Amino acid sequence: MTLSIEKSKQLLADSKQYLAGGVASSLRAAMKPTPLFVESGYGPRIRDVDGNEYIDYLLAYGPLILGHAHPSLAEGMSHALKRGVTYGLQHSGEIELAKLLTEILPCADRVALSGSGTEAVMLALRLSRAYTGKSKVIRFHGHFHGWSDAIFTSFPSADMKQAAVGSASDNIAPPGTNGQSENSLQDIIMLPWNDLEALEATLLREKDQIAAVITEPIMCNNGCISPKPGYLERIRELTEQYGIVMIMDEVITGFRLGLGGAHGKMGLKPDLVTVGKAMGGGFAISAVAGKRELMALIENGTVSHLGTLNGNFAATSAALATLRELGKDNGCAYIQMEHTADQLVQGIRALLKKHQIPGLVNQAGPVFHMMFTAETKVEDFATFNKRDAAKYSRFAELMLEEGVLVRPSGLWYVSAVHGENEVTATIEAMDRVLAKL
Ligand code: PLP
Repeated sequence: MTLSIEKSKQLLADSKQYLAGGVASSLRAAMKPTPLFVESGYGPRIRDVDGNEYIDYLLAYGPLILGHAHPSLAEGMSHALKRGVTYGLQHSGEIELAKLLTEILPCADRVALSGSGTEAVMLALRLSRAYTGKSKVIRFHGHFHGWSDAIFTSFPSADMKQAAVGSASDNIAPPGTNGQSENSLQDIIMLPWNDLEALEATLLREKDQIAAVITEPIMCNNGCISPKPGYLERIRELTEQYGIVMIMDEVITGFRLGLGGAHGKMGLKPDLVTVGKAMGGGFAISAVAGKRELMALIENGTVSHLGTLNGNFAATSAALATLRELGKDNGCAYIQMEHTADQLVQGIRALLKKHQIPGLVNQAGPVFHMMFTAETKVEDFATFNKRDAAKYSRFAELMLEEGVLVRPSGLWYVSAVHGENEVTATIEAMDRVLAKL
């Protein structure tokens, strides 16, 4: 079957006349056979302008934890629309949301609201530097922390050399794009993740200049790789010992692995945590949550935290509706999401075996990454880079023809409204696709 996507193709051509690149975020341009134009989304499904319907595992790259057009979110938003969406002044929604966040996120003494994950990370870095009076930041290969000049780096290619301990030139972060100031990355030290030796050696050598270590709790963006037992705990110990801020970037995992995020699940208390994506159920909102002493720098005015639309009434209403829905019935949404992900992962593993296709799935609760690879385990970025990315991209295209929308990179999201019907249809579709691949 070949997908009929003529209207999407035409709209892309039209769009390119006015919108730079025809899409609103560079990542979306890569979608094959063409970036899709959407007519509507409802529950776990999405419909394009050509009338094709897909089960949606892209979920807008993470935010749609309640699926599309959830009634609770719609209700919260209609209330906001009637009262005006933003004031540039304070309102009770901000307080309610901030209070809720301090209740559900173990690391949160105080929170600061912003509009995107990128902005939350920028603020977390700023707080860390101001608090410690130091400037360098350790980040890790394969992690993503948004697209600001301050931290955006390219992902090295498959033959990348993992940073060698002690070799300064190997630890310089490569810029993520043309036009990015090289100077902005001079304070960024790139290290391999899950490699305690590299981290310990670097910290020992440069601790007096290092303001922060920023890490995703799970390497979601590249392989859904879990931390080795004790790894994050050791980062916590070392950062505490050396007076370095530990930032956990939970823009993906926050409210997705559990209401308390990954740090809540793991029983860890980083100094700062960044959250976004799922927080607003699709509306633009993010937050930095953290220790009183660090957050006090905003209160005493020594660190600037700005943004015209920060904490606007529409966004806080969306976040409150989403988080309250997720917290209902003792968090049974999380049981549902994990169950759905488990069923999918079991089905995928069985199909890979049946079709004798070398591949694997790394799962962290409700998120998982599927890849085609001859490796039997993928536990670091270098091994992840050996996967057959082109084959997966072809797979994603064939899945689309079968009515299943998956992210071409291999990361799958499920929502609280995906259920048995979606799982069964997805596994049946995949059986047909893998037979063709
Ligand atoms: N941090 C992580 C871990 C992310 O995955 C992302 C986006 O994918 C960001 C930060 C940036 O978030 P945003 O796209 O909302 O700016």
